[in-house]
Amino acid sequence: MSNRKSILFIHPQGENWIPGQENISRIVNIMPPLGLLSLSAWLERHGHQTWVHDCYAFPGSDDRILETLREQQPDFVCFSTTTSSFLDGIRLAHRVREARPSARCVFGGVHLSALGERLLAEYPVIDFGVMGEGEETLRELVESEGKQLADIRGLIHRQKDRVVFNGYREQLVDMDSLPFPLYEKLHGFPDSYRLPIFSYPKAPNTTIITSRGCPYTCSYCDRSVFRRSYRYNSPQYMLNYLLHLRQRFNIRHVNIYDDTFTLKRQRVLDFCQLKISSGLKMTFNCAARTEQLDREMLVQLKRAGCWMISLGIETGDPQLLQRHRSYLPSQVVENPLQNIRETVLLIKECGIRVKGLFMMGLPGETGESIRQSMEYVFSLPLDDFNLSKLTPFPGAPMYRDIRNHGSFDETWELMNAANFTFIPHGFTREELEGLHLEFYRRYFSRPSTLFNYASMMWKSPDSWLRFWKDLPTFLKCTRKGKRK
Ligand code: SF4
Repeated sequence: MSNRKSILFIHPQGENWIPGQENISRIVNIMPPLGLLSLSAWLERHGHQTWVHDCYAFPGSDDRILETLREQQPDFVCFSTTTSSFLDGIRLAHRVREARPSARCVFGGVHLSALGERLLAEYPVIDFGVMGEGEETLRELVESEGKQLADIRGLIHRQKDRVVFNGYREQLVDMDSLPFPLYEKLHGFPDSYRLPIFSYPKAPNTTIITSRGCPYTCSYCDRSVFRRSYRYNSPQYMLNYLLHLRQRFNIRHVNIYDDTFTLKRQRVLDFCQLKISSGLKMTFNCAARTEQLDREMLVQLKRAGCWMISLGIETGDPQLLQRHRSYLPSQVVENPLQNIRETVLLIKECGIRVKGLFMMGLPGETGESIRQSMEYVFSLPLDDFNLSKLTPFPGAPMYRDIRNHGSFDETWELMNAANFTFIPHGFTREELEGLHLEFYRRYFSRPSTLFNYASMMWKSPDSWLRFWKDLPTFLKCTRKGKRK
């Protein structure tokens, strides 16, 4: 192919933790950068050559990146960043610029998609921005030879002194036309990557995504990349994907990282049926919204190998839930907390583990609402629990008027759900930190929680091995009073 280009993809690290604290986030969970792996597969299918450096899995990768620049001389260097890793991406882009001035630096991902043209105006080292879904925009860019850039939908570029966005793509890719992400581009895959500790029965394991977009508008959620469109892989594609992972990497468990895996009921049922018929012994986790689950679906999920379902419950205060969580008109629930409780019990009855995801520090949060959340969490038979610190990401609906509801320190590096960058009216940071710590301490000191984690010795032996290996680091962190 005469127009063959070479592209280096970089997933910057960012600090992604709490300043001054031992960083346990990488010990607990390292997920493959699936967006970049999908782009890499798409461009290779179209005849281009690609490399991927994941600085999150391998911090301090600068030398390896410079070596790739020297040896492979890529035409484009593409960065996918979150809000907290964006400035590390900029730092690396400057190093790329020095080492290989002719390479074009392209940024994409959630932070770029949320802030758009502003980032190119403020950071001249970025040559191009890709807004939203990247596959076709990036392919057209690398094949353009720098011509007719104004015709590439989804692209941000410079015209003389102006930064111009060409508008969103109307036609998005058919999900079943996507090649499987190129996990093999990752150094040390699958062993260098791990799902959160205690959230899988077997290793090696990994993450997959089988749908893009979400039709809901929860106030705290940044959906800048795939926005409100909802597209998904067919059940047959999903099964083929799992078979590929087993054959190529011996993967034995996957986390289905879709925002709304259970939105299309029939798709889930058909996938379960196919997977059961295939005889493939591979377990999986998924996330769901409680109002989309019912007994029939849960029975089928269990039979198909579902090991754990994560539920975004967020808070035990009904008013906060009503204010921040969105529902589809066809799925409005009268009493959400009661619906969640009944669904948790139903999931457990069907033999599937349940993880509850909560957040603290929402606009409107009070001391009383936090106490309510604690009592609600402790009354549910959850198997696992996570309490993140609310972060008003630039693409989240609440970002627009967040300063009306409290004080907001918009330091991008700290915006990672592990720091309180937003303090709602009525609190000090110290009070929120104290309540966050109390929440975790009370949760993890309950006999039922301790018994549950003890049972992981036979349900997830690999997690316990990891836990013992990293115990000194966990203890150091616990003494300082933090856990993610
Ligand atoms: S929190 Fe979940 S359901 Fe709500 S907008 Fe985000 S992805 Fe969609």
